[in-house]
Parts: sequence; structure tokens; C-alpha cells
Amino acid sequence: MVIKPKIRGFICTNAHPVGCAESVKRQIAYVKSQAELSDRPKNVLVIGCSTGYGMASRITAAFGAGAKTLGVCFEKEPTERKTGTAGWYNTAAFHQEAEKAGLYYKTLNGDAFSHDMKKQVIEAIKSDLGSVDLVIYSLASPRRNDPDTGEAYVSSLKPVGETYTTKTFDTNKEIVHEVTLEPANQDEIDNTVKVMGGEDWELWIKALTEANVLSDNCTTTAYTYIGKELTWPIYGHATIGKAKEDLDRASSAINSQYQNVKAYVTSLKAVVTQASSAIPVMPLYISLMYQVMKDEHCHEGVIEQIYGLFNTLLLKEAPPVDEVNRLRMDTVETNDEIQDKIKAIWPQVTTENFPELGDYAGYHQDFLHLFGFGFENVDYEADVSPLAAW
Ligand code: NAD
Repeated sequence: MVIKPKIRGFICTNAHPVGCAESVKRQIAYVKSQAELSDRPKNVLVIGCSTGYGMASRITAAFGAGAKTLGVCFEKEPTERKTGTAGWYNTAAFHQEAEKAGLYYKTLNGDAFSHDMKKQVIEAIKSDLGSVDLVIYSLASPRRNDPDTGEAYVSSLKPVGETYTTKTFDTNKEIVHEVTLEPANQDEIDNTVKVMGGEDWELWIKALTEANVLSDNCTTTAYTYIGKELTWPIYGHATIGKAKEDLDRASSAINSQYQNVKAYVTSLKAVVTQASSAIPVMPLYISLMYQVMKDEHCHEGVIEQIYGLFNTLLLKEAPPVDEVNRLRMDTVETNDEIQDKIKAIWPQVTTENFPELGDYAGYHQDFLHLFGFGFENVDYEADVSPLAAW
């Protein structure tokens, strides 16, 4: 079939297998072009391994350190008539490249929040790896079923405390307009913490410890976004920010409970991923931030951020941490100079001048790339099979 992007609101409902493979290959090429990592994890578990920051973590561990990687994700398999999800194709491409490089890989597709998936992962570690020395927790999900009660929880992307009116960019209609976001009630806050907070990360570490499959010197990290004043009302101080605060609680609980595990929350910069495109205001903020950071020659995407994290902080004996023991890869984005430049542009942005003031072209290209579209060296007129086996 000939596969063209089907964009619906902030999501693309199909994906291109060849383009997704191109995206994975480019990330691998970037990692290979950098110095080999001096601190090398051996056996790495990546929870949320198929797209965005999790995929970049898997690629960095495998191709920057020669690590064996075991991944968990939740992706849709293609059929003869319907494409699979981007994460499916990314994983197929990662497997192919790992195979060529002689690297161990295994991916388990299913619900990471469930007890059953934890059991499957433990079995795979026991039979193939013995233990893991690095656990990356990179899930982004709008819902979670409690593994004990089966109760379904849905997260919200809302301000906390008061109504928030701001500018946003509608990626569907391509207009800049004002949006008023009503504050979340307590239930919505609690449910978001249940989905995106630290409880499941703790359950993973508990299950892996009880099964005795964590190495004597294991590191684990969960990813967060902190941001600054422009994004606090919808992120840092909003429902999702409350969930992210719970990661700090979980990290400290893991550190005090397990002597062999070093847990960190890592704050990463804002980038275009399937998760971030769904958050109101973020497409506008990211477009302006991209423009400013590209002008200042300090722009980074997912793979540069994660390679930098592995190379400079994550596996060091005593890395520099912030006041709540977090690793910070976001300091270039959040420094006052960059933020002041974004703040100066923000009030001036209109639908008409947005293409000049912001890097929406860059944002949109990154968005298309997430689904394997928009690569100049991929033939999008070609008839391709949507099928790709793992
Ligand atoms: P993403 O949407 O690209 O990736 C999410 C991953 O989670 C995918 O591999 C998906 O398959 C997996 N997943 C979702 N639900 C699952 C489930 N029930 N079971 C198994 N796997 C499941 O998201 P992302 O932006 O890379 O986000 C990853 C983490 O990084 C999140 O914690 C996010 O908050 C954080 N982060 C993102 C940004 C950003 O700007 N995108 C910035 C800083 C931190």
C-alpha cells in the first residue's frame, strides 16, 4: 500500500514502516558518531521502549555501550490493511539493527502496569540475562488499570487551583488563539497521580527485587519535565506536575528501601513526542523554544538529550543532582536567558507571524518524523507492505 499521513488533531493515526526505520537508523548513527560511553550498563530494562525518550534510551544503551536490552511497550501490530503504530515499526527496525550488530534484544508488548507483564519480564531476565543493572522508566500513558483492583484511572491535563487563560496553537486548524483551561478537581488530580505518578515505578522495583533480578549495583531513573513560568500553569504546577512530584517521592522511597538500587528522577527538555503533542500550549511553547534554541545553537532532540544523560550523569558514581536528588538535562532550556527570549516573543505571536517568530516548521517536521513521515530520503509514493514482524 501507499502510506500517507492521516493526521487527526494532535495525533497521526497511521505510520510508515520505512520512515520509522529511518528515524531509528538516524538515532543509531548519532550515537555511533559520539564517543563510546565510558560507564557501560550491561543489561538494561527499558519500560516504555518504543518511541520518544524510551526508544532513545534503548538505542543509547545498545549502540553506545553494547548493552543487552529488554524492552516493554504497548503498540499495535499491523495487519494487511492497516498500518501498525510507529512504536511497532520503531521496534521492528531496532531489532533488525541490533541483530546486525550482534546485540541481544527482546521486546514484550503489553500493559506495563499489569502484574502479568512484570512476571513476563522477570522470566525473560531469569532465562536470558540473569539480572539487569539499569532500569529506565519512560512510560507516558493517559490511563492505567490498577493491577490489584482492576479499577481504571484516566489522567487529565488541567491546571490546578485556578482557571488559566493563555495562548495556544491549534495544530489542526493552524491558528494561534486564546484558550481557557478550567482547573482540575481533586479526583482528577488524584487520578493523574495514579496514572503518571511513581506508584508503578515502585511496583516494578519491588517485583524485580523480590525476584532477585536486579544487580548488586543497579541504577534506575524515571523521566520528568519541570519547565519554567511559561509552562508551569499547564505542566509543572498542573495535574501532570502533581504526578511528576510523586515521582520524587517514589525515588526517595526506592533509595531508602533498597540498598543495591540508586534511583533518580531525570528532568529532560521539552521535545516533540506523541505524549507532548497532546498537552495544550506545548506545541506553541516548543515551537518558540525551538526557534530560540536553534538561533542560539543549543537545540537538542531526544537522542542528543539521552546520549548526554548517559554520558555525563546517569551512570556516574556521584553525579551532580538538584535539591531533590534529580538529574538535570534541562538546564539549557530552563536558564533565564533562553526563557527571557521566549517570554519576549510570546505576547507578540499571532497566527500570521507565527511562522517567522516560532519554528513551527521544525515542530511539524519532528511531529511527522515521529510517525515515519517527512524524511526526504524515503519514497512515500512507493508501494510498501505494512507488515513488519518482530
Ligand atoms: P512517548 O509517548 O513517546 O512514549 C511512551 C512510551 O510508553 C511508548 O513506548 C509506549 O509504548 C509506552 N507505553 C504507554 N503506555 C503503556 C503501557 N500501558 N504499557 C507499556 N508501555 C506503555 O512519550 P515520551 O514523551 O517519550 O515520554 C516518556 C517520558 O518522558 C514520560 O515520563 C514523559 O513525561 C517524560 N518527558 C517527556 C518530555 C517531552 O517533552 N516529550 C520532556 C521531559 C520528560
